Amino acid sequence: MIYLNGKLMPIEEACIPVLDRGFIFGDGVYEVIPVYSRRPFRLTSHLLRLQHSLDGIHLKNPHCDKEWHDLIAQVIAGNDGDDQYLYLHITRGAAKRDHAFPHNVTPTVLIMSTPLLPPARELLVKGASAITASDNRWIRCDIKAISLLPNVLLRQMAVDVGAVETILLRDGFLTEGAASNIFLVKDSVLLAPPKSHLMLPGITYDVVLELAAANNVLHEVREISEDELRTAEEIMLTSSTKEIMAITRLDNKIVGDGEPGPLFTRLYQCYQHYKATVMRG
Ligand code: PLP
Repeated sequence: MIYLNGKLMPIEEACIPVLDRGFIFGDGVYEVIPVYSRRPFRLTSHLLRLQHSLDGIHLKNPHCDKEWHDLIAQVIAGNDGDDQYLYLHITRGAAKRDHAFPHNVTPTVLIMSTPLLPPARELLVKGASAITASDNRWIRCDIKAISLLPNVLLRQMAVDVGAVETILLRDGFLTEGAASNIFLVKDSVLLAPPKSHLMLPGITYDVVLELAAANNVLHEVREISEDELRTAEEIMLTSSTKEIMAITRLDNKIVGDGEPGPLFTRLYQCYQHYKATVMRG
């Protein structure tokens, strides 16, 4: 079952007008929220980031937190599977095609659920491959905008060569992945690029930095150069659906000793432990 503009319905029955500005202009924002054991993970942070995205496109939040909580609970209950991920999508609504904002238009609100499957065992054990590319996106990457064409093309570049992610460099510095945040390890210290308009403030990124602090993992948030990325002892990516994953090949070269490294293994275990604790309530 999906939620669309006030109603729960099977996805086959859901219809969106052709003039919806999400369809015409990509004029909208979204969130992806993992659900474990039927409980949304870090919901407060996801709703805060949604508000940030809505503010970024000057669109009033169509729901208060309580309403979001209720709608999300209804969608989770309406779908099979204890582990799901929710896709929330809000557009400026349907109006005559004109770039400027329309007046008195009701936003389109969609929430849908997909089963959340853990990453393939092989990717966890052996790590994944990534490639690099120049970050050719706009400079408001902190807004989780539905207009994702650059991200789509960048991710496809990875898929075309059998890699899982494209890691982006702007002006010689690491920003993030096409659909993930990136960490690396240098001199046994976990490094993360600082939040800015050039990357999405990842919820999993925050969790990993919190876990590093709580578990005495040496870490630093600072600009990371291309050279540091290419000579890293370890590289890992984070996202709500992939959690933490080691990158063991970059542009066809081995990262570190070619296996998921000790800091990845430690943080992965901390993450699983933290998830289990939160889900038990
Ligand atoms: N950066 C980009 C461009 C993303 O699309 C995503 C998630 O899809 C992330 C980072 C990771 O964010 P989160 O951990 O909140 O899923």
